[in-house]
Amino acid sequence: MKSIADMQDLAGKRVLIRCDFNVPLKGDTITDDGRIKAALPTLEKLLSQGAKLVIMAHLGRPDGQVNPKYSLAPVAKRLGELLGVPVTLAADVVGPGAKAAVESLADGQVVLLENVRFEPGEASKVDAERQALAQQYANFGDVFVSDGFGVVHRKQASVYDIAKLLPAYAGLLVEKEVSVLRKLTVDPARPYVVVLGGAKVADKLAVIDNLLKVADTLIIGGGMAYTFLKALGYEVGASLMDESKVEACGDYLKQAAAQGKTILLPVDVATINPAELDFAAMTLSGDVVVCPAEEMPVEREGADIGPASAKIFAEAISKAATVFWNGPMGISEIPALAAGTKAIAAALVESSAFSVVGGGDSAAAVRNFGYADGDFGHISTGGGASLEYLEGKTLPGLAVLDEEN
Ligand code: ADP
Ligand code: MG
Repeated sequence: MKSIADMQDLAGKRVLIRCDFNVPLKGDTITDDGRIKAALPTLEKLLSQGAKLVIMAHLGRPDGQVNPKYSLAPVAKRLGELLGVPVTLAADVVGPGAKAAVESLADGQVVLLENVRFEPGEASKVDAERQALAQQYANFGDVFVSDGFGVVHRKQASVYDIAKLLPAYAGLLVEKEVSVLRKLTVDPARPYVVVLGGAKVADKLAVIDNLLKVADTLIIGGGMAYTFLKALGYEVGASLMDESKVEACGDYLKQAAAQGKTILLPVDVATINPAELDFAAMTLSGDVVVCPAEEMPVEREGADIGPASAKIFAEAISKAATVFWNGPMGISEIPALAAGTKAIAAALVESSAFSVVGGGDSAAAVRNFGYADGDFGHISTGGGASLEYLEGKTLPGLAVLDEEN
């Protein structure tokens, strides 16, 4: 990968850079600005060399449509505060607003394009549609810097296709993330424990197959657990679950047993009445009731692991030499449902293992519990990206930086 350390003489040059500013929001308040802070070293370095910066980023999944709910306005404001330089938010992604903003850029100034996922071409499965959009992005820069580690596993216009059109370099964050994660793929100290949770069940179940090959113990909590519990024949009520993956989960359990690996599942769960959860307001009006994992009432939803599970999981972590954790153990944005996630965070902080926490929501959770980045070996800005890297997959946004163009 060509590094931005190799870039010279940026005065007067427009640097088009992809960042990952997909931060958690409550209304228009950013609840964890870790991803913005993680981008600062690269942005500051480029600015100090006199570059004009044009930043591309996304927020949420607006699915190719302009939706003010997913505007990058809160990000532009926070980035400006952190950089100490005004950040102009373009009115659109590649339209007249963006063109005008880019044209009027002076050296040392910063424009943030609107949410790239407002454009249907950004995440299109049709190569030509992505390439056409990337061509428009390319008009905004002389060189491209890839620094959005959280999106390098995506074959998207602002991540992948653009890197084929301009001289492309890895930013400091991408370099740092790759160097830490490489340590986990090359001969990790054992036992190596991987903790998986969160909500992207369909995405993340696919990684289990490969992770089983590299890890010694897999701990599964959060929304990921219920498809497994269902595979054991348990009632899972209204819990998050992927019916199409129940059989595969049963197979993973058998495979793990045959390979002498351990998969730990919750033995108890904290349940809620789903009607009492207001996800938009992040409030819960009713009680949290803990029950054994095999005795979930049909009308309730598993929203956290229970205390017995937390104890078992923490014990496995305490014996590990390497731990990678992605995905909260419950709906940890709500304090009454954060106990399981807190227990895992505490176990990681206490353990002497080399620990890596990955994922936007997981990182937000540990920071909101009051932990500092230095309490862990590394907090990765990427959830899906770090998982795919650990699986040994080729990440399109990294591979393209190795190509000559
Ligand atoms: P990350 O951002 O760390 O990669 P994900 O995006 O996969 O993690 O998952 C985070 C989300 O998972 C959080 O919003 C959390 O509320 C949700 N979650 C965790 N456990 C459950 C559960 N049991 N049921 C529903 N949602 C859950
Ligand atoms: Mg997330």
